[in-house]
Amino acid sequence: MIKEYVPSFTPPATRDDTAIWFAFHGGNVLVGISDAGPALMSCRHPGEHGLETTREHYLGTYGGQHCYTAELAGPNGLPPNHALLGLRDLFGHVDDTLAGLSGRAYQILEWDRNHRYCGRCGGETVPRSTERARECPSCKRTSYPPVAPAIMILIINGRSLLLARKFGWGNTRYSALAGFVEPGETLETTVIRETREEVGVEIKNIRYFGSQPWPFPNNLMIAFTAEYAGGAITPDGVEIEEARFFDIDELPKLPPSISISRRMITAVAADLAQQYR
Ligand SMILES: [Zn+2]
Repeated sequence: MIKEYVPSFTPPATRDDTAIWFAFHGGNVLVGISDAGPALMSCRHPGEHGLETTREHYLGTYGGQHCYTAELAGPNGLPPNHALLGLRDLFGHVDDTLAGLSGRAYQILEWDRNHRYCGRCGGETVPRSTERARECPSCKRTSYPPVAPAIMILIINGRSLLLARKFGWGNTRYSALAGFVEPGETLETTVIRETREEVGVEIKNIRYFGSQPWPFPNNLMIAFTAEYAGGAITPDGVEIEEARFFDIDELPKLPPSISISRRMITAVAADLAQQYR
């Protein structure tokens, strides 16, 4: 059963209960290691294990248990049977809700660390008591944890999918096209622009597929499918090294299963297999 996450920024008055701690050092999270695999830290406070924290935020409850995110003072002095695990590696071991929550935990710490000073007047910011925000007492500028929207587009032509391989030494994986939303764009405009820029083709019948928070560093991937409407595939030679249509029975090496890209390619290929049976 998937446990429910209830967000909140107001911590409980006391810390009597065992809570889930997302304790970070850089981009790595502290986990206990056992035969069952890595598990997030469960304790009243990391101080119980002799660990010092430099910043802490309350996240709400997960399955009724309080959750906190914290920055560890250093990578040393870890308790026995504990290790620092990259956030991407944790994603493969926990359910989607907990993966999303660990991404949120990481992004809140990053935002807190990067917004200690006002971007407008340089004054020192303070946390606001009524919401998760930092405010500049001098000029009243407020900052919130940022989210950068990015689109992903899977182009369908009959029973083939347009997949692209990015530049990168030894990169053999193919994926759907992706790109960032620019100021003033609708998502549809971004999808059309990115497709033209990266592979030079036209599309039609754009349809929403789903979305996934991607905390590397603070993206929300919004995934679409579209039908091929014309034009010769021309990789931009900057971001995309190679792009072509693959028959659904001959798909190349794809991104890992935790990514929405993989989920979308698999789902669309299964639909087309039904359709062209
Ligand atoms: Zn200011």
